[in-house]
Amino acid sequence: MKIFETHAHLDHPQFASDRDAVIKSCSQQGIDFIINIGCDKQTTLDSIALAEKYEFVYASAGYHPHDAKEFDLDFLKKQAAHPKIIAIGEIGLDYYRYLSPKAIQQDVFRKQLQLAVELKKPVVVHNREANEDCLQILREFKPEKVVYHCFSGDVFYAREVLMEGWFISFTGNITYKNSNLAEVIRIIPFDRYFVETDCPYLAPHPLRGKRNDPRNLRYIIEKIAEIKGISPKLAAEQSYRNALKFFLNK
Ligand SMILES: [Zn+2]
Repeated sequence: MKIFETHAHLDHPQFASDRDAVIKSCSQQGIDFIINIGCDKQTTLDSIALAEKYEFVYASAGYHPHDAKEFDLDFLKKQAAHPKIIAIGEIGLDYYRYLSPKAIQQDVFRKQLQLAVELKKPVVVHNREANEDCLQILREFKPEKVVYHCFSGDVFYAREVLMEGWFISFTGNITYKNSNLAEVIRIIPFDRYFVETDCPYLAPHPLRGKRNDPRNLRYIIEKIAEIKGISPKLAAEQSYRNALKFFLNK
């Protein structure tokens, strides 16, 4: 099974004691690509360091809405020029936890979208309880490639995202008992989705609550396969091919 991990935070302190062992074990277990996601200054630098250390690890650069207050455009431009920075993200809006004021979140989201358009880089979007504003701001800039990371909307919202030509990526939350994402998975075209762990968060069932890592992607792949009535191998391959084209132009 060929697996592409599109969203990991392996720089997280929860991996302090065994980070290298986890990453090496991933490559031995069929995970051919990992994108480590930047959320602010430090995590962007740490993601780049991991990408420099491991050939199969790539990185993104960006300011998460929680960290919008510390936004630094010059820093972001400089990091985005690194050859292993293959996306701008995760960026977006979070009206659930409101760790930055709404106006600042929107302003920083717009500035980063502008940069992504200039650099022709894919955008990794974080959206929490900001559906309408998120769509509207994305439509202002029309980046060529957009993925809604950790999609949690309903089927109507998914259709809006898909109609724009954008992508949806699924985490371990699709395996939870209270998940209502089955309908979204059923309708999503085979060429418009990815899988991701968002590790160390969101460990899939039956590991919920534990530290997550990319080796658990198989639970997410199996769930998608079950809902779509295809083999896990095919589900993994579809996501893999989509991610390769989207992030690496291959
Ligand atoms: Zn994340």
